[in-house]
Amino acid sequence: MTKVFLAAQALRILGTLHDWLFGTSFRVLCYHTISNAQRFSQHLAVLNISAEVLGLGQLLTQKDKRYSLSTKPRVLITFDDGDPSVLDRAAPVLASHGMPSALFVVTDWVTSETEPWWVTSSRAWQHNSNLEIHGERFSSNQALIARLKTLPDTDRKAFVSEHFSAARPARNPEWSELSAAMKQGMEIGAHSASHPCLDMCSPEQVQREVSSSIATVQKRLGLAQVAFALPNGNGNPDALQAAADFQASSVLLFDHRTMPASRLNVSMPLISRLRIDDYASVWRFVFIASGWHSRIYHLIRRDTQSRTL
Ligand SMILES: [Zn+2]
Repeated sequence: MTKVFLAAQALRILGTLHDWLFGTSFRVLCYHTISNAQRFSQHLAVLNISAEVLGLGQLLTQKDKRYSLSTKPRVLITFDDGDPSVLDRAAPVLASHGMPSALFVVTDWVTSETEPWWVTSSRAWQHNSNLEIHGERFSSNQALIARLKTLPDTDRKAFVSEHFSAARPARNPEWSELSAAMKQGMEIGAHSASHPCLDMCSPEQVQREVSSSIATVQKRLGLAQVAFALPNGNGNPDALQAAADFQASSVLLFDHRTMPASRLNVSMPLISRLRIDDYASVWRFVFIASGWHSRIYHLIRRDTQSRTL
């Protein structure tokens, strides 16, 4: 408990210093799976002491709030893809803290047994590490996935079809489970229909992926407006246009940056997010959530293109 208390004070101090130097920011955290519920609970315990945890709808209406030294860091907790661990493990801990969150689902996968294509591809490589793409072999399953993300989408799909025998049935959420999660304070947004790399798709496919996922979430959950999280974080003008055409409330990026408050002043804000893993130690969590990890990461890497999931 002492460690959590000290970490909370560190988050407050480092977050204030960050915003004093770089401007008022929100911290929009992006998790995927929750395999380590104990660590995730510690993250929330730190936030419980030192931060104001907002829902997405609340964040979007924060435009005019003045920031002062006494203001707690404002945080939004998000999850991408709809892994079952989010509803099974994260949702109960969030509910016990009374904290809101947002989950972005891949709409073709909801109620299906579809396994994410990168999991299938990864397992195919584990079965046969000599498999090739255009004569190229790979030193690891991660290298294969990274290469697949650079292929035209038709080629990526062809590869996944060719190795479909490696797929295993996956458990994905039901719409009724998502509806129940909403009642517990978890907002549901769209994360495409099938999780392709939108920058590798044709304009027509981008339109389909964005519009059908937004429309499906709206229809199945009775929502007037939903947010859209870019799969793989790949920005694409066609995707942003399609999201705007379908009146997405916001578009969530995967750029590992803090979210400047000044960027909320438009009808469909682009929301920067910080990548975080559930198993991050409390101190790593503070480093990331304060915004300092992002500052140093971009100073060293100088890469703005993310190809992580
Ligand atoms: Zn994703």
